[in-house]
Amino acid sequence: NGVHALPELDASRLTTTLTSHPRSVPLPDSDEVKAQRTCTDHMVTAQWTLSAGWAAPELKPYGPLSLMPTSSCLHYATECFEGMKLYRGFDGRLRLFRPSLNCRRMLVSSTRIALPSFPPAELEQLIIALCARDGPKWLPKERPGSFLYIRPTMIGNDPALGVQKPKEALLYIIVACFPNMSAGTGPKPGMKLLASQEDMVRAWPGGFGYAKVGANYGPSLLAQGEARAKGYDQILWLFGEDCEVTEAGASNFFVVWRTREGGLQLVTAPLGEKIILDGVTRRSVLELARERLSGRDEELEAVEVVERKFQMHELVEAVEEGRLVEAFAAGTAFFIAPIAAISFRGKDLKIPMAKGDTGAYAGAIKTWLMDIMYGRCQHEWGVVI
Ligand code: PMP
Repeated sequence: NGVHALPELDASRLTTTLTSHPRSVPLPDSDEVKAQRTCTDHMVTAQWTLSAGWAAPELKPYGPLSLMPTSSCLHYATECFEGMKLYRGFDGRLRLFRPSLNCRRMLVSSTRIALPSFPPAELEQLIIALCARDGPKWLPKERPGSFLYIRPTMIGNDPALGVQKPKEALLYIIVACFPNMSAGTGPKPGMKLLASQEDMVRAWPGGFGYAKVGANYGPSLLAQGEARAKGYDQILWLFGEDCEVTEAGASNFFVVWRTREGGLQLVTAPLGEKIILDGVTRRSVLELARERLSGRDEELEAVEVVERKFQMHELVEAVEEGRLVEAFAAGTAFFIAPIAAISFRGKDLKIPMAKGDTGAYAGAIKTWLMDIMYGRCQHEWGVVI
């Protein structure tokens, strides 16, 4: 009857055009790397149109995109992205960490902003193809413990100003150099957070805080800039009149505290209201904690793992009553970052850090995750390229 299914995104149709101008790999921690502008030699792109579906994806030299000034993404924020890392292991192999979760989340994000759907497994194959092409050169074997940052992105590039669902979209994947954190520490030991004020809300029920869309980040930069200017590293995003604690910067937020009944709990905000990003690191922390912190470890007292709403006043009381054990942020960029202080309504709450520069729980979780990412421990979460 003339009705044909349109082509899906299909990694097996990938075409390859290699660069004729391969660039040299910058030294770790050089100014060039710190500037976070340098990408590897190649990128992957795939164009979608409503009338023809997904075209064959292309692996080609990294370079500028061509967009009409009327493109949907430039006006209506039809843009979403992912953030993940390619790790050079201590066993010499290249690995991704749970990439299928990023690809599934990318689908959640793209469909929230009327961009096309795609099979997440195909995106994963495209990411793997790009990493296999550029990873060996850009993550030299001599630098175990280093990583590159992968940024899959989708934009509405429909060149039409009408306010409507884009009829054209571009998926692209780039791989960027990032400052090396091979020592495994975060940006610095002990982040300082500034709690958000009532006039700056990151996300709200019915909104899109659960999606990794650019529209969540641009409007947060003002608050983040103010935090930096005042000597803080990130915003602790609060929500609602009762100051629910949600996320810290572009990371999920965890506390370990002792309840008044005397038990230890690892607590983080729940995903239910869809105002929080379903972090890959968050999930992994929760899963590892449930598996490994239930009393098996002789050095660490068992903790109960709790996903529930909690409020700033509970945190303040835990600090005042000496029940707060530690707090940390968890995300791909800053990894597991212990928190030293939180400023709330003009007062600095001092957060304990057992071993000087990290809490014992954050420290253990970080080691477990690094062992998987860098191949010191073989685990199904580490996907070898
Ligand atoms: N929350 C927000 C708002 C983020 O942008 C990120 C980074 N993607 C995270 C949490 C952490 O997610 P992940 O562990 O997947 O990096």
